[in-house]
Amino acid sequence: MLGLMQDWPLLCHRIIDHAATYHAERPVVTRSVEGPIVTTTYARIRERALKVAQRLEKDGIKAGDRVATMAWNTWRHLETWYGILGIGAVYHTVNPRLFPDQIVWIVNHAEDRMMIADLTFVPLLEKIAGRLPTIERYVILTDAAHMPKTTLKNAVAYEDWIAEVDGDFAWKSFDENTAAGMCYTSGTTGEPKGVLYSHRSNVLHAFMAALPDSKGIKSRDVVLPVVPFFHANGWSLAFSTPMVGAALIMPGPKLDGASIYELLNTYKVTFTAAVPTVWLMLLQDLEKTGADLPYLERVVIGGSACPRAMTKTFQDKYGVEVIHAWGMTEMSPLGSLCTMKPEYAALTGEARLDVQMKQGHPPFGVEMKITDDAGKTLPWDGKTFGRLKVRGPAVAKAYFKLDQDILDDDGFFDTGDVATIDPYGYMQVTDRSKDVIKSGGEWISSIDLENLAVGHPKVAEAAVIGVHHPKWDERPLLVIVLKKGEQASKEDILGFMQGRIAKWWMPDDVVFVDEIPHTATGKIQKTVLRDRFRDYRLPTAEAAE
Ligand code: AMP
Repeated sequence: MLGLMQDWPLLCHRIIDHAATYHAERPVVTRSVEGPIVTTTYARIRERALKVAQRLEKDGIKAGDRVATMAWNTWRHLETWYGILGIGAVYHTVNPRLFPDQIVWIVNHAEDRMMIADLTFVPLLEKIAGRLPTIERYVILTDAAHMPKTTLKNAVAYEDWIAEVDGDFAWKSFDENTAAGMCYTSGTTGEPKGVLYSHRSNVLHAFMAALPDSKGIKSRDVVLPVVPFFHANGWSLAFSTPMVGAALIMPGPKLDGASIYELLNTYKVTFTAAVPTVWLMLLQDLEKTGADLPYLERVVIGGSACPRAMTKTFQDKYGVEVIHAWGMTEMSPLGSLCTMKPEYAALTGEARLDVQMKQGHPPFGVEMKITDDAGKTLPWDGKTFGRLKVRGPAVAKAYFKLDQDILDDDGFFDTGDVATIDPYGYMQVTDRSKDVIKSGGEWISSIDLENLAVGHPKVAEAAVIGVHHPKWDERPLLVIVLKKGEQASKEDILGFMQGRIAKWWMPDDVVFVDEIPHTATGKIQKTVLRDRFRDYRLPTAEAAE
């Protein structure tokens, strides 16, 4: 017997309808690419998104067509997402920080028909446009006054483009499983892979992301998504924020510490989210200026492991609660968040920090398990590591145009991460399966060592890789970037780590470098480091030979 409830497909554009109806005048503020701060509202965003939809149709864009965006977080970018979604076309966020050859590969693979881009990226696009045959037109997110002379095909300023229609338009309605958005994984190995979100998965994921034990956002919050919309579906902030009707503050192109601080303070931001690198810059800036964070209540930190020292500084010095989060492009992207269940709620000080180093527990809609290499499920004792596998309605079941089964027999997707799960269901990533250091048949977690090393007051960033060792197969090499103007020796660093980890986990050597390479999504590029130190001879190697 079927239920007797209404058929109301979970379509993304219903989110902006809701925001425009019940939170119509909530401010949406952007530091524009042109410079000035621009303020609008959810009601205006919806009106203009309808124009985008109408205008796309006029350009012949149809349901299922991919429309690329290469843009910062701005009100115009948000309008284009909802406009694209509202006719059943697919927004495809392109990460401008990728190598140009990768961008060319991705746009061609997606067969994007149109490119909607910020002024910032016009020079980059002009260089590669000749290799993007599927793009029929470039829309530049600006007005006539700022529109540059450009060689880009059929280029038009966004404001002129949408001014050509009256906005008298109605969203299309279709099946909730229709494709909505697309994002390619960074692809540290092999070609990038396209993850294709549906309307249903995005809407369900927005509910999951907003829950009290997830981001816990509400209409009284002021939300600043520092994480760009082109990273992993923008961590759902373009959906979950209007869904709850919170005010939205967007940083445009300026992600440095001082610019972010200015927005946090001026607009009394209560909630923000980004990768650790961004917060490293902000905290360094605050240390210099002696400024405070009187309004900020919560910060979500994810994308890579959040260092203990960062959590401690935010909480103890600035009174801001850190929510450590884990996820991936294939998961829309949130998989778990470290908020306190009653079992841990009473913890304080270092014991609380121990829990906060974990990536947390999944919201409803994400199921997890850890297994050994043979697929056998491992215990949730907080100690046993295994391959982390997930399933749920907002987890990928296949990649775009790749005829390859990516799920196990029970429908779980292998995340490529290695993790423990504790008896209360808190997951902790111990490594990427490719990055664990295999020493004498045992595994050493590179992330644990990195977290410990960045706790040293003079260390800005740390990376640990496995280097060949004649006896143990691999041993850890610690690569360090010191804070500006600081000096430290190998002995200082190792002395600091001693006694805080098992003896056999201690790095065999420490090297100091000016910079650690990062991927386009801000993760440490271990492949590059491994190449660089491929022939590195550990001081312990000689003794073993
Ligand atoms: P991406 O799809 O580019 O967002 O990358 C997803 C990967 O980033 C995950 O599989 C993890 O390896 C890593 N990651 C994300 N969040 C965290 C976190 N909080 N701690 C450690 N690794 C993380």
